Parts: sequence; structure tokens; C-alpha cells
Amino acid sequence: MSFDYIVVGGGISGAATAYYLQKSGAKVLLMEKGDLASGGTGKSAAIVRQHYSTPLMARLAKRSIDIFEAMPSELGASGGFAKVGYHLLLSPAMLDAAKANIEMQRQIGVRTSLLPNAEWSKLDWLNPEGVAGIVNEPDGGYADPVASVEAYVGAFERAGGTLRKKAACRALTRAGNRVTGIVTDDGDIAAGGVVNAAGPWARYLAESAGVALEMRTVREQDTVWAARGGHPIPTGSVSNGVDAIYLRPLGDGRFIIGRGFPKDYDDVDPYNYKTNADDAFVADVQSRLDKHLPGFAGAKLIASYASLYDVSADWYSYVGPRADIAGYFDFSGGSGHGFKIAPAMAQELAAWMTTGKVASDFAGLSYDRVKAGKLFKGSYGGNRG
Ligand SMILES: Cc1cc2nc3c(=O)[nH]c(=O)nc-3n(C[C@H](O)[C@H](O)[C@H](O)COP(=O)(O)OP(=O)(O)OC[C@H]3O[C@@H](n4cnc5c(N)ncnc54)[C@H](O)[C@@H]3O)c2cc1C
Repeated sequence: MSFDYIVVGGGISGAATAYYLQKSGAKVLLMEKGDLASGGTGKSAAIVRQHYSTPLMARLAKRSIDIFEAMPSELGASGGFAKVGYHLLLSPAMLDAAKANIEMQRQIGVRTSLLPNAEWSKLDWLNPEGVAGIVNEPDGGYADPVASVEAYVGAFERAGGTLRKKAACRALTRAGNRVTGIVTDDGDIAAGGVVNAAGPWARYLAESAGVALEMRTVREQDTVWAARGGHPIPTGSVSNGVDAIYLRPLGDGRFIIGRGFPKDYDDVDPYNYKTNADDAFVADVQSRLDKHLPGFAGAKLIASYASLYDVSADWYSYVGPRADIAGYFDFSGGSGHGFKIAPAMAQELAAWMTTGKVASDFAGLSYDRVKAGKLFKGSYGGNRG
């Protein structure tokens, strides 16, 4: 048995890539060791925003919004995209960088602005004391990460792709300087190319074929809170850069709330880590909740949990082929912000693999940048990109 391409990992990166490869006419196998979206994707807050500090990331986020919106017609199912808007509350230290980033984003067609002070009172959920600026992005919001994966995989299978769930790829096979396929519990499978979209586990898969992949796996905790009612709460997604928390609406006054940059990152073994949140983390989030968002005073904790970030050397994904090994393609290192950009990245990766053509900025995402010392540099640090 052989395939043109094998994609390892049924998160948003692998699911979307498998779909675009299959759509191009290739014969594709998608392997997932557990259930679809059982990695970081399934636990993602899935906030969608275009506020990035490089034109590459901003254009990929913008393109992904178009893709999310077109999912019902393109994939036959919705990815749960809700264009409810996105606000970034700026601390004084963030203000100058944000202004420059907004200027850059507008040049590539992102609808975004610094909200004039006269309009701050329209945000009835905000206590603006100490807020230096507010980025307004009407086209942002959030998506449903599990529905997005299921939409891609459904369309992939209808296009003739082969899905194997609860089927681990144990290793990559290699002949000289070429990856030639994978090892499974049912035997080896050959392929013209293998995409390593195994998220936090990608390093181990790469190393099984002697391919280096520098990546941290860190534990990311999140909480779900219900506002008590009686005071306005945000209607869209919010990154509160002043108190270092992010909020994503779930409906019915409930929100996913996590800690934003800067914070400590806890390096863990992705095969063995604590999947419930720490009491100290929950208390820390709670202490930050209502400082600028009075509607969360007395909010009730509904749930808390921990999942994984796969963090690259510069917090930008590793995507594409490598110069020194044929038949091997990276798509990992989402670094805690990889959900929203994955659809556009998958589309460009599939085109790169099947046509050999790639935009020069996107080519910079190849893992080759690590050896070449050409790492990306965002203006805020961490996963703000
Ligand atoms: C708590 C949390 C909040 C987040 N919030 C946001 C956000 O608001 N916005 C945003 O854009 N991003 C966010 N992110 C980041 C984003 O969710 C991830 O970057 C993205 O979902 C990663 O997708 P992936 O497909 O690359 O990896 P994963 O979803 O981890 O998928 C990898 C898959 O590979 C499978 N796999 C691994 N090894 C093997 C193997 N050997 N054989 C077969 N299968 C294998 C795994 O089971 C897994 O399903 C968040 C992440 C977390 C954890």
C-alpha cells in the first residue's frame, strides 16, 4: 500500500493540510493516534484575530478568516466561526508597537483601528482606568476548533482521502536523505511525502528518522467562568494586555479565560503531564478578572483544565520542506496561537508541496530558518506574534 502523502496528526494543522492535498488530486492518508482534535486543537480557546506584528502573520490570519467564513460552502460544514469582533486592551508599554502594527495591518487590508477615546464609553463592559489604548478589529472573534477539524476531515473523506483514527504513526522510515513513509502497528506504509503535523509530539516523530526538531512543550491552563449578570460583559473576544488575560465568549454569559503573555511557561513531557489546572492558577486568573472588566466581579468558576503548547524557537510555526531531507514536511510549533492561522498555512503548504511554488515570506517558515539563524521577531514577545 502506498500514498502520495501521509499526514500525521488530526488537529487543525493536519486536517486542513490533508484536505488541501487531497483536493489537489493527490492520494492522501491522514493518521491520528487518538480522536480527531484530541491534542491542543480540541482545548484551544480558538480566538481569531489579525493583530500580529509581521505582514506574513497578519496576511495569513486575514486569509484564514475568509476561509472560516467560506467553510459551509467549501467544506459542506461550518467551523463555528463567529465574527463577533476582537479588542486588544493595551498597556502603556504596548502602545507604540500596536500603532505601528495597525498601520502595517491596514496596508495589507485588515480592518483595524485604534479606538478613539471618545468611543471608549461605548464599551460598557470596560473600566478604562490605566488602559493606554484599545485595538478594535471588527472581523475577529472565535471559531469552534473541533467543528473546524471535523469540517475539514469530512470534506477530505468525501474527496476520497483515507482517515485512520486511533492509529499511531510509530516512526518515520528513511532511506538515505529521504523520508519514505511511516511505521504503524499494522506494518509500514510508503509515501512520496510525509507531513509531520503531530503538534507537541512532533519532535519525537521527527527524531525517529534522525530529523532534528527544536521544540518546547509547555502546559497551558485555561478556565471557564460564568458572569453573575447585572453588569455588561464583552460580546466579542478580548485580549487584555493590561492584566495579561484573554477572554473568549462561549455564550450564556460564559467565557474561556486564560493567562496571556507575559507569564511563566511550564515545560512538560507531552506524554505525561497534569491535565487539570492548579488551584494557584485559578486564583491568579480570578484576581485579574474584574480589574478592568467589572462584569466578572463574583463570576462563578465552571471548569478548568490544562493542555499543551508546542513552542518553536521563535514562537512562529515550522512549516514546509527542508533543504537537507527530501519527502519530509513540517507543520508544527503553533506556539499557542496556531489555530487561527492554520487554515491559510495549510493551503499554502499544500500548494508548495504539490507545485513547488511558494511565496517568499511563507518560505521563511521552513525549519531551515533555525540553522540559518533567521528567526522571526514579533514586537510583543511570546504568543502574541
Ligand atoms: C489552551 C489553549 C488555548 C489556545 N488558544 C488559542 C487561541 O485562542 N487562538 C489560536 O489561534 N490558537 C490558540 N491555541 C493554539 C492552537 O490551538 C494550536 O496552535 C493548534 O490547535 C495546534 O494544532 P495542531 O494540529 O498543530 O496540533 P494538535 O492539535 O496538538 O494536533 C496534533 C495531533 O497529532 C496527533 N499525533 C501526535 N503524534 C502522533 C502520532 N505519532 N501518530 C498519529 N497521530 C499523532 C495528536 O493526537 C494530535 O491530535 C491554543 C492552544 C491551547 C492548548
